[in-house]
Order: sequence, then structure tokens, then C-alpha cells
Amino acid sequence: MKQIIRNKSTFIMGIAVLFVLAGCGGSALQVDRSSNVVVIDAGHGGQDSGAVNSGKKEKDAVLQITQKLYKEFKKEGYKIYLTRSSDRFLRLDQRTKIADRKNADVFISVHANAIADMKRFNVVEGVETYYLQKTRDARSQSIAARENASVLMGTDPLSQNVILDSVLSGPKVIESHKLAIDVQKNMFGLLNKNYRSVKNGGVRPAPFYVLVGASRPSILVEVGYITNPKERKRLFTPDYQEQLAKGIVAGVGRYIDNRKKEVGF
Ligand SMILES: [Zn+2]
Repeated sequence: MKQIIRNKSTFIMGIAVLFVLAGCGGSALQVDRSSNVVVIDAGHGGQDSGAVNSGKKEKDAVLQITQKLYKEFKKEGYKIYLTRSSDRFLRLDQRTKIADRKNADVFISVHANAIADMKRFNVVEGVETYYLQKTRDARSQSIAARENASVLMGTDPLSQNVILDSVLSGPKVIESHKLAIDVQKNMFGLLNKNYRSVKNGGVRPAPFYVLVGASRPSILVEVGYITNPKERKRLFTPDYQEQLAKGIVAGVGRYIDNRKKEVGF
């Protein structure tokens, strides 16, 4: 009788081990992301090229990167929407309203950076993530001013400050900051692992209008400087674009997992 019981428990343990091994090797452990909605915005488009240097345009780099993001988010099981999937111009409200319509968990606007001072083209570089917040930092203000100028093309600029003031004190700021930290950490981490001398520009607050309209955690990623020769080349390299996308997807996953623990959603 004892022998039978021992055999039975050995058999059950064997089955359990098989299940664990199957889980480790396959997709059984993949987190179910089917209820998570992400909206990705490729900056600029159409008549608005964004920053341009050596014939390379910001609008093209960010469109290619958002297409990589689309594939990676899909692969992980997310519901993913793009504000634009071709070279066309969108008004500010067309960029942000989709996030509310789709009830997105996060909104990410993708841009490439630039500086005006040609003497510093070789030294100013790095990946940066921004969340909506007023700031006294002159550098963040000037980057926001450049991006805001083009995003406001064709829109009524009335009451811009009123809009900004109305969202800057909400809980969205805290959540957007958390999202920015997770995305920046994972994006930089992956790039730094695969490419030499990638600079971490960190997480920064700035008053970007494109982040105002979406009433959910929203960030703007500056994926590199189009004015820096090394980064300009990388921004148009498919493998670099893919690593960028994978890092951003991993960051969003981390943010959502942490938020689930906090509020149990
Ligand atoms: Zn831009």
C-alpha cells in the first residue's frame, strides 16, 4: 500500500515538473496584455517635417520608429493604435483625442531632438523622456517651444495657458512621471546594452502641448538628436529602431505591472 502511495506521489510530482518546464520554455508565462490599450503618436508629418539635418527629417525617423513600436506592442498582445501611419499632418486634437476615444492606458508621442548651435552638433546627444509639467529649466523650455510651434500649426492657440494650468495639478502628472521613469530606464538600458556610448538624457518635465489633451498617463520620448551625426545615422538604422521600440514596450509593461499592484486593476 505504502509502495502504491509513493509511486502515486512520484507520478504527481513528475507531472508538476513537466508543467513548470513547459511554462519556462514556452509562452505560458507571457502576461496577458489583451486588455491594455496603447496609443502611439509619431510627431509632425506632411508639410511639418520637424527637425531637419543633412537631408534627414524628424517626421520620417519617428514614423519608422512608431511602425516598429506597432509590431512590438502587437507581438506582446497589446491593443495598439497609431495617430498616423503615413506621412500626413495632424492637428493637435487629432493626435490626443484618439487616446481618450480608445480609453488608452498610456499615450506616447515620439520625437527626435535638435539643437540650433552647429558648433555643438557633435557633443549634444542622448535619449530623453518628458512628462507634462511646467519647468524653469531653460533647456527643457526651448525643446518644448520648438515642438509646440509645429504642433500648434493650424490650430486655434487661444487659452493655451488655461489648458496647461487645468491639467498640471491632477494625478495624471504623478502617473505620467512614473511611466516616464519606467520607459526611460528600459529604453536606455536596452540601447546601452547593444550600442556603444549611448547617452542617458534622463526624465524631464516640460510643457509639451501634445501631452495636454490626452487625459491619461502621457509622455513624450525624444529618441535622439537628428543634429548629432552618430545619432542621426542610428535613428534611421532598422536594428537601432527595433531596440528603441523593444525598450519602450518593456518600459510600458513594467509601468502597467506596477500600477496593477498599486490599484489592482
Ligand atoms: Zn518633434
